[in-house]
Amino acid sequence: MTSATPWTLLRYGASLAATARLSAPTRPLCFSSSHATIKSQQTSEQLLVVIGAGPAGVYAAIRAKEVDPHLRVLVIDKGRPLSKVKISGGGRCNVTNGHHVEKTRLAENYPRGNRELRGSFFNFHGPQDTICWFSDHGVELKTEEDGRVFPVSNSSATIVDCLLHEAKKNGVTLQTGKVVSDASISDKGKYILKIEKRTIDLVEFVEADHVLIATGSSQQGYKIAVKLGHSIVDPMPSLFTFKIDDAKLATLSGVTFPKVKAKMKLEKVRGNAPELTQACWTHVGDTLGS
Ligand SMILES: Cc1cc2nc3c(=O)[nH]c(=O)nc-3n(C[C@H](O)[C@H](O)[C@H](O)COP(=O)(O)OP(=O)(O)OC[C@H]3O[C@@H](n4cnc5c(N)ncnc54)[C@H](O)[C@@H]3O)c2cc1C
Repeated sequence: MTSATPWTLLRYGASLAATARLSAPTRPLCFSSSHATIKSQQTSEQLLVVIGAGPAGVYAAIRAKEVDPHLRVLVIDKGRPLSKVKISGGGRCNVTNGHHVEKTRLAENYPRGNRELRGSFFNFHGPQDTICWFSDHGVELKTEEDGRVFPVSNSSATIVDCLLHEAKKNGVTLQTGKVVSDASISDKGKYILKIEKRTIDLVEFVEADHVLIATGSSQQGYKIAVKLGHSIVDPMPSLFTFKIDDAKLATLSGVTFPKVKAKMKLEKVRGNAPELTQACWTHVGDTLGS
């Protein structure tokens, strides 16, 4: 995904997310469609809306508040915040790599090219920065023999709690159960976000000065980015989820196998099965890493 304005990317340190920005230093206004009540916020601060409360969105929101404490930061998620972090690393959350803290070497191990990683990503937030950030914020980490870094608690909840605590402490507002379904740019050069809460049939429109798209692999996120003028590089999966219809497997949820040899038979696809290195059972079946 490319960004028309890399400046925003650097400023907020949101290297995992696509960002979009227009300079429109007028008053932020929160308004609603005919479906919802009209709310107007007469403040002089600018509003950043972060779409998605995964690790990229929550961390970017914290960083934005650290960089500019006057900025109003609103994070919106259609589900629960950091839900993937909770199940990550077999429920322990593999925070980073502790063996290749040197950025260039780690970037070289990235299977699909390392240019982007060596540049904006690792220059601003490499593995060592990640380790320091968590330990500065009270999370004790340990590096296991294979280089994976986990919280000493062996629980991903430690990471989730730390990020949510820091977000709250820095004054980030979090709204969950709301989906950002559309986006456009107004005549004044502001972002107009359409937000829907389907459970109560509510539609709101929020006007923002800055928008940060941190929607992970969600197609909706890509569509919004395209609508706001970004071009998308076709994404490639690195974790593959298999939904296996076997009730017995649900009891294995959270179990990780460090080395797995598996064969895949795909209809109409010829060629070798991918090299698989790890498998983790989740509540919906099996996830394999390549
Ligand atoms: C089983 C499993 C284990 C993993 N283990 C690890 C690990 O140990 N270590 C590691 O580093 N990584 C791990 N990963 C990968 C890691 O979880 C992802 O790389 C990470 O969550 C990506 O973060 P993100 O913030 O970019 O996206 P996500 O975590 O996917 O967050 C995106 C958020 O955006 C929200 N959203 C999407 N569209 C909209 C919309 N239109 N409006 C509002 N909200 C929206 C979603 O609800 C979601 O909460 C694992 C992944 C899986 C599936």
